[in-house]
Amino acid sequence: MRLSKLISKTQREVPAEAETISHQLMLRAGMIHQVVAGVYAYLPLAWRSIRKIENIIREEMDKAGGQELLMPALQPLELWQATGRAQAFGKSLFTFLDRKDRQLCLGPTHEEVITQIASRNVQSYRDLPILAYHISLKFRDEPRPRGGLLRVREFTMKDLYSFDVDEDGLDQSYNKMLQAYRNIYARCGLPALCVEADSGAIGGKDSHEFMVIIESGEDEVIYCPNCNYAANMDKAQSIKEKLPDEELLPMEEVATPGITTIEGLSNLLKVPQNRTLKVVFYKADDEFVIAVIRGDIEINETKLKNILHCIELRLATEAEVIEAGIVAGSASPIGISGIKIIADDSITSGTNLVAGANKPDTHLRNVNYPRDFKVDVITDIAQAKAGEGCPRCGGKLSFTHGIEVGHVFKLGTFLSETLGAFFIDPEGVSHPIVMGCYGIGSGRLLAAVIEYSHDDKGIIWPMSVAPYHVYLCPLYLENPRVATTAENLYADLEAQGLEVLFDDRKESPGVKFNDADLLGIPIRATISPRTLETNSVEIKKRSGKKSQLVPLGEIREKLKKLITTNS
Ligand SMILES: [Zn+2]
Repeated sequence: MRLSKLISKTQREVPAEAETISHQLMLRAGMIHQVVAGVYAYLPLAWRSIRKIENIIREEMDKAGGQELLMPALQPLELWQATGRAQAFGKSLFTFLDRKDRQLCLGPTHEEVITQIASRNVQSYRDLPILAYHISLKFRDEPRPRGGLLRVREFTMKDLYSFDVDEDGLDQSYNKMLQAYRNIYARCGLPALCVEADSGAIGGKDSHEFMVIIESGEDEVIYCPNCNYAANMDKAQSIKEKLPDEELLPMEEVATPGITTIEGLSNLLKVPQNRTLKVVFYKADDEFVIAVIRGDIEINETKLKNILHCIELRLATEAEVIEAGIVAGSASPIGISGIKIIADDSITSGTNLVAGANKPDTHLRNVNYPRDFKVDVITDIAQAKAGEGCPRCGGKLSFTHGIEVGHVFKLGTFLSETLGAFFIDPEGVSHPIVMGCYGIGSGRLLAAVIEYSHDDKGIIWPMSVAPYHVYLCPLYLENPRVATTAENLYADLEAQGLEVLFDDRKESPGVKFNDADLLGIPIRATISPRTLETNSVEIKKRSGKKSQLVPLGEIREKLKKLITTNS
């Protein structure tokens, strides 16, 4: 490809709207074009990389026994209503009416459609297991699209669905996919960590995410350096600090004028925050709910939402708190009735805590559960923290950031039961098919490669997903010998099937080298009057510092060797 003919142009300025590195670099390298918020066109350089990523994914899916098909983006909404997932996806689902007033949606994923296909085609246990996948566009109306290709409203995803006769079969399919995913990330040059995850709107039991550990990542990961426990913050568990039991003292009121926070309370009464009770008010769909937790721990809203089985969970507004008859700032579960109370199990550790008195400017000392108040549910709704105990080995947990690059779920049978996907066992008895689903977004994976592999000058592509392998960079093209040598070499390398980006622009060496670094093509081959003095081409790897002169007669073989040994 001649750079002078490429539809996109590089950009020197850092675009103001881009807050992540991958977004900045993709805009500057002319890889993507935003059409509307969260919707991008992939320009040729990005599209070449995307296709390479998708080929890697395709090869690994096929190797694991996957069969490729293609399902449509347009789906009848009633299919989603039948499984209850229209509600679960809520406003993220793009819905509209066709000309006959039939409700349709743009598929955010394809469980419903594939289950319908299975229900028509699978009859017997002999038809199973099946691993079926496709690579297609998905649509999700994200409330806050951001980060370039990291959070978008239209994206390409590979989704595979597994169908098995029982849980053991599902485990085998799941493990096959975990291995295929590890292979994919390794081939894309990404070290990805497999972490326990929440199932969210997809539903199901076990779920794992693959995370690329990067400080700038928006996902939060809790892991144990001592064993291999790792979990998304939404899901992470920990052994909470255990406080000593003391003799229970009688409750007494204490005046706390103007105090409305745990920190203020702790300072005024000279009690540590882990000796206080914190309450937070929520609206779970239409229900007002109180969550109670020890003062030093934060509430994990994903865990709380899962306990409440609600579609939407949000903090209650001030007006809603007042309407519920609660004295914000001095609230506690003591004496409250008619409101659902969910408590974290941390309130059972520790005695004689300080809590609100449910009247203005007043708190209570020596509050003890269950002596002084009742709750509807007591369970783990806490945010795990670095420094707490590992739930597996008791070691000290650590915290880091990551970018999610894949998500797999054990769905079980709820979709097959709802949509009638059954099989007959050898005894003639009918059972629901046991399902799993496995997704990788190719655009997000591309962004993650850039987030992981770049420097202050630009992208550093791994050979396997680079848009081109060689950046052919002639300097001083007005020199006829440089021009002729470059044109001849370009024609020869193209004929040999090498992937070459030919910088045939009449730009200064500085501009060309800057663009070469920005575009991040793995090998730069420079031809200049100086290298031609020794009939050579200068070769430099984007990932390294050193360059070397290679005689013109050997350059073709040298490049081929560099490409194959680095892919
Ligand atoms: Zn551990």
